[in-house]
Amino acid sequence: VTNAQAALRFLLRETPDFLEVEGALREIAKDGKRSGEIMQRLRNLLKKSEIDLAPVDLNAVAQEVAALVQAEFSQAGVSLTVDLARDLPRVMGDRIQLEQVVLNLLANSLEATKELTGKVRTVQVITRKEDDGGIGLAVRDSGPGLSPATLDHLFEPFFTTKTGGMGMGLAVSKSIIEAHHGRIWAEPQRAGGAAFHLSLPAAGEKEDEPG
Ligand code: ADP
Repeated sequence: VTNAQAALRFLLRETPDFLEVEGALREIAKDGKRSGEIMQRLRNLLKKSEIDLAPVDLNAVAQEVAALVQAEFSQAGVSLTVDLARDLPRVMGDRIQLEQVVLNLLANSLEATKELTGKVRTVQVITRKEDDGGIGLAVRDSGPGLSPATLDHLFEPFFTTKTGGMGMGLAVSKSIIEAHHGRIWAEPQRAGGAAFHLSLPAAGEKEDEPG
């Protein structure tokens, strides 16, 4: 929109500046192409979203995704630890989608911590049973944390503070968790760093009462 407005201004001048108009139009075309690619990726993600509900063990999800990214963390000098609750009830969900969410949280935490110099670089994945009966998973990092201004927009589509960021990871994660009747939220940690939490209803795998 900014580029289109600029192009108009350059065009409507007494002596139109066609070179500037050309530059602005090229930017518009580039951004249009990029949005198209983002939409395509989103569609691919959501296409699979006739959610395949089955009981899922969040501990297994955490372990599997952690194993997947472990090498990348080690390479970046970031310590990744997994702290799992015992006897965690399962949740009803689509395992692949839930892994996608955890993968995204871990990717963000790695990006947040890896550039830090002279600081402890740690990321923790934690599961636990919440007091309200929900099943929780959190990813905490020792990165720069979340400013109040950022906190308000984290989960909005296209919100990004990264050069080359898409700003879709958390928005898609939120859609996935809400489609699972759960909640996802972020909190700055007292000791610094960011914490992302999600909570999902337990599967309620009670045996049907006869009659
Ligand atoms: P992207 O990673 O492409 O920017 P996301 O939706 O995953 O998109 O994240 C949006 C923004 O939220 C990031 O650009 C960053 O500003 C902020 N953010 C996400 N995770 C963290 C984190 N662990 N620590 C600090 N900021 C974060």
